Amino acid sequence: MSRPFVNWSGSLAFTPSGYAEPTDEEEVRKLVTRVRESGDTLRPVGSGHSSSPLVRTDGTLVSLHRMAGVIDKAGDRATVRGGSRLKELGAGLYDVGLAMDNLGDVDYQSIAGATATGTHGTGLGFGNLSTQVSEVRLVTGTGEVLDVSATSNSELLPAVRLSLGVLGVVTQLTLDLQPRYDLHRRAWCAPVEWTLDHLADLQHTNRNMDFYWYPRSDLTQIRTMNRADGASGPPVAAAGRTPKSDGWYEPRELEVGPTHRTIPQDRELPFEEIEYMLPSEAFPACFAEVRRRILDRHRRTVGWRVLVRSIAADDIWLSNAYGRPTTAIACLQNAALPYEEYFRDMEAVFRQYGGRPHWGKKHWLSADDLRPLFPRWDAFQAARRRLDPDGVFLTPDLARLLEEA
Ligand SMILES: Cc1cc2nc3c(=O)[nH]c(=O)nc-3n(C[C@H](O)[C@H](O)[C@H](O)COP(=O)(O)OP(=O)(O)OC[C@H]3O[C@@H](n4cnc5c(N)ncnc54)[C@H](O)[C@@H]3O)c2cc1C
Repeated sequence: MSRPFVNWSGSLAFTPSGYAEPTDEEEVRKLVTRVRESGDTLRPVGSGHSSSPLVRTDGTLVSLHRMAGVIDKAGDRATVRGGSRLKELGAGLYDVGLAMDNLGDVDYQSIAGATATGTHGTGLGFGNLSTQVSEVRLVTGTGEVLDVSATSNSELLPAVRLSLGVLGVVTQLTLDLQPRYDLHRRAWCAPVEWTLDHLADLQHTNRNMDFYWYPRSDLTQIRTMNRADGASGPPVAAAGRTPKSDGWYEPRELEVGPTHRTIPQDRELPFEEIEYMLPSEAFPACFAEVRRRILDRHRRTVGWRVLVRSIAADDIWLSNAYGRPTTAIACLQNAALPYEEYFRDMEAVFRQYGGRPHWGKKHWLSADDLRPLFPRWDAFQAARRRLDPDGVFLTPDLARLLEEA
């Protein structure tokens, strides 16, 4: 069975020659074996929320959306099926008393897809979602079912936690979680200079903090989240900073609720996005340059906003927060407006400051550009050649991304 595929934002469209929706691991295994024998390519797809061509193939597209849900839990860990969408997963985990440490801005993605690209939220103390993955089961390019954990094939763990879908089809993951908890979300507006002046303080006094900058008004919207039970420290408003008496702006009370309902937001207006992860110490200079360029060159064409978030360092080989505390800058553009000239100009700035691209968003880098940015690049490629020796998952787009010229 085949049908056209269009990603969420609409900028990636193609028709694979086949489309598979297995219901169990044995079907996945048979599919991989069949594709391998035919010399074709296979791409796993989650919810289609990436806009880089990670899933594009003229071979077979495989979706695990029929392989979803929580399998079991042990203490603060749960094993879940790869096709689970974050939204249903959040509710399912909540029902068994658990919650993820952090989430990104939306919950439409699948857990395997989100972790395959290093999807992240914000917060100095939180790595991207892949850091919450402690075990992975995948069907490799040879059709083998492989368990990777601290005790089994552990040398592959830093590769499979964030794998771009090139090491195998991930059928299940074990997540390190927390007992469920509620968060208190606040948002307020402030001039950009104020936000930049107070950024370090805001980041350190809130569990999660990010801000949007709106180029047309030059204003920011600050968003903070803290545990409603006070366990993550005092939120801004309770930290002795009364608005106006010391120049702080009044946070608007927004909502209190479980993580899976307070962190993700609904996004109905399609947009394109480029996001780069910068070493945090480079953020002030990089943001100043981004702001100057947007105001000088793109103000009239930029339809939307710029988002700034923080991510803790990790040790996952292809993570864009590998080895360094990270600040991410994302430029969003309404999908109906042109984006390429604007994004390419921003990419040039991000690269000057040592940025690494978000794997699932727009960028124009290939393996030669990427290799110097990832200290364990070669280790990942060795793992890829080991788990997929015949290139079952290696489409031309992936070859450009992962194999130097
Ligand atoms: C509206 C919107 C909001 C977003 N918000 C954020 C955000 O807050 N933070 C952030 O970091 N990113 C964000 N993103 C980016 C998004 O999280 C990533 O692109 C993510 O990878 C999409 O997940 P998906 O399930 O749609 O996977 P897809 O886009 O379908 O696939 C992504 C990758 O996962 C692989 N994959 C999927 N399933 C499997 C599997 N079972 N086994 C092996 N590999 C698999 C695919 O091959 C591909 O390489 C956002 C995107 C959109 C459109």
